Amino acid sequence: MQLLQSIKNYDFSNVLHFAQKLIQMKSLSGQEKTVVERCIREAAKLNFDDSYFDRMGNFIGKIKVGTGKGKKIILTGHLDTVNADPAKWDEEIKPHSAAIKDQKLYGRGASDMKGAFATMFHSLKILKELDGNEFDGEVYIVGTVVEELFEGVCFLEALKKINPDYVIIGEASECRLNIAQRGRGEILISIFGYGKHASVGRTTVNPIEQVAFIIEAFHVWYRSEAMALLGKRNIVPTDIKIPVGGGGGLDGKGGNSTVPNEVELTYDVRTLPGDTEESILKIVKDNMSNVIEHGQRLYPSLKSPDVEYAKEECITYTGKQIKQNKFAPAWQTDEGDEVVVKAKEGLAKVEIPIEIGAYSFCTDGSAVVKYRDLYPDKKCQIIGFGPSLESLAHTTNEYIEIGEMKKAFKGYAGIVSELLRK
Ligand SMILES: [Zn+2]
Repeated sequence: MQLLQSIKNYDFSNVLHFAQKLIQMKSLSGQEKTVVERCIREAAKLNFDDSYFDRMGNFIGKIKVGTGKGKKIILTGHLDTVNADPAKWDEEIKPHSAAIKDQKLYGRGASDMKGAFATMFHSLKILKELDGNEFDGEVYIVGTVVEELFEGVCFLEALKKINPDYVIIGEASECRLNIAQRGRGEILISIFGYGKHASVGRTTVNPIEQVAFIIEAFHVWYRSEAMALLGKRNIVPTDIKIPVGGGGGLDGKGGNSTVPNEVELTYDVRTLPGDTEESILKIVKDNMSNVIEHGQRLYPSLKSPDVEYAKEECITYTGKQIKQNKFAPAWQTDEGDEVVVKAKEGLAKVEIPIEIGAYSFCTDGSAVVKYRDLYPDKKCQIIGFGPSLESLAHTTNEYIEIGEMKKAFKGYAGIVSELLRK
């Protein structure tokens, strides 16, 4: 078979070399410029038809197959990584060494997700050689920025410009065909009391004690239905603090012999398809309402807590300021949808066993949900397929197995070629 032959003939050391270069360049969120410039040089080397970066700083490369008038496909991965503390890593595999040992490529971003990105990138070179009589369309590779802070925010910009028919997220799926992903929301609950000297005992409203009731309410009363692939909606407390000015201590941040007047509680919510910013807020408020009413019967002066989304702010390397609620929606693609059917055919043609799966972490795929909300007439379909394990993301001594990269390389060529088939 011709496609399998050209995959076999491809010098995979080029893929590895590019992945190593990307890992050697540190690219924390908002600092992806050198990596993007390296991608533009690589695209020129591989004769892509176009490559540039957009106003957010996303790298965009493009190839045309046949007349280019067929389907538009995006392969995407993020170029930023979380930080790494070199002191914690083994000596011979420091975070930016990109060392290769025992058929594994080591370094920050190896699994999440520079290894996958380099693999997708080079698969375009194979796809460019497809016979224009049989295949037609455009293939884009989008390297997004600041994904580690805002899943999907910068990718949405690229979606609006490209208007693709299909999106393939390259995050680690162990080369399974992922057809769903839970979303994520971060909710801040501010609980108020009346700061006083601790010697007054229970004659004042103590927000720390109110927090205990609220946590108990979620623990005891909140139950989520489990979906077949995605499991449950999780609501878990992840932080608790007395904000500056919340009272107590010598610096107004709590401590010593003062009851504070404010406590902030953070909940991480892993959402399911169909959940919206509003519906999640309602779930949180409904679950608290009983304990708040009870508290107000005991302490008529108890104020209702403020419930809102946590906000994150950053500036991209292109100088664009982003400030957003921390909410990224979940998605699910039907197994009968064209993108899944064709992806399965494509994987079969390159002899990769077909297994359906789902992401348990959040990805740039959330942008597709927002894109379809903005343009209801657009039928953009999404799947995930990538080398390596989700569990290796953000770890010390992070690595990717080279064998997984080779398998994914075949997979990308197989899936995309079927999507391009006339
Ligand atoms: Zn990732």
